[in-house]
Amino acid sequence: MPSPVVGFLLTAQLLALPGVRVSRAVVVMGTQLKIDVIAASRPAALEATEASYQAVLRADALLSTWHASSLDSLNQATVGDTTAISTELLSLLHEVLPWRDSTGGAFEPVSGALADAWDLRGAGRVPSTDQLRRALASTGAEAMEIRDKVAVRQRGGAWLDSGAFGKGAALRMAARALQHEGIQAALLDFGGQVLAVGAPDHAGGWTVAVADPRDRQRSALELLLRDVSASTSAQSERFVTVDGHRYGHILDPHTGRPVSAWGSVTVIAADPMLADILSTALFVMGPEQGLAWANRHPSIGAVFLVSSTAGTRCVTSVGARKFVVPSDSQPAP
Ligand code: AMP
Ligand code: MG
Repeated sequence: MPSPVVGFLLTAQLLALPGVRVSRAVVVMGTQLKIDVIAASRPAALEATEASYQAVLRADALLSTWHASSLDSLNQATVGDTTAISTELLSLLHEVLPWRDSTGGAFEPVSGALADAWDLRGAGRVPSTDQLRRALASTGAEAMEIRDKVAVRQRGGAWLDSGAFGKGAALRMAARALQHEGIQAALLDFGGQVLAVGAPDHAGGWTVAVADPRDRQRSALELLLRDVSASTSAQSERFVTVDGHRYGHILDPHTGRPVSAWGSVTVIAADPMLADILSTALFVMGPEQGLAWANRHPSIGAVFLVSSTAGTRCVTSVGARKFVVPSDSQPAP
């Protein structure tokens, strides 16, 4: 079983619980999803794990770019044709797309042409200047127009990549399913993003470790999370290697090039989809600009782990400090 992308190592803290804990692991959206639910009875916990799994499957049917989905039908449309967007997908896209502007273009979902230019889903390739120029022309709001209830691919090769927000959207749908089931405490670990609902008995929240981007078997720091989601973005897990150079999967939409592997950023937000969108965007901005952006938005928290030959430096935004578990051995925020 491949281990999940840079993410979270659960700490064993669930030994003395009232109620019943059920743990389940499934592979969905190409990643392992670990579901831990605490409920009043075993049938209730089992039902809740199933409900959250089914919610993630619905998100996948809506947003997958790997198999047929509502989004994929827009991405496969003939250039110039008008394609109707389902109500559910439309309401998600109406939330997602404004983050392009709010992040100064760091988050750009219509960036599939760039991923193709670098063959990031295949063996990898360094595009020629001309190929990169064409891929940039097929990137952004004008390359795929989404207005009213329709989408129009305006440029050949343009497609909307849900990679930076799909897991977050899925965790949001799972959170609603758990709420519907009346679940007070659950932890969903979706390889790089966790959803923490309530807290285990007598705890202030769920303790999750953020991996060191240079060695993700090592925990760099711990977070105490309750009714929030935390999403980590890094280049160290998904990359292609061309002529000995590593090119990561997170692209700077301004240059069309993969962002350098400077470390990782973890964004903590009440809304899982927002945490997902912003971890990608802040990774593109980098630790300095990203920190300034996060400090202007204290309702979210951002933890930057900046790698260098000297080690890993931890920098936290004002909104993140309350989540960091103090530790002598942790790098100071
Ligand atoms: P994440 O792991 O959440 O940071 O998402 C990374 C994924 O988002 C990549 O694998 C691409 O599918 C997609 N992506 C890469 N760069 C960007 C970007 N600048 N804006 C939006 N999506 C991106
Ligand atoms: Mg993301």
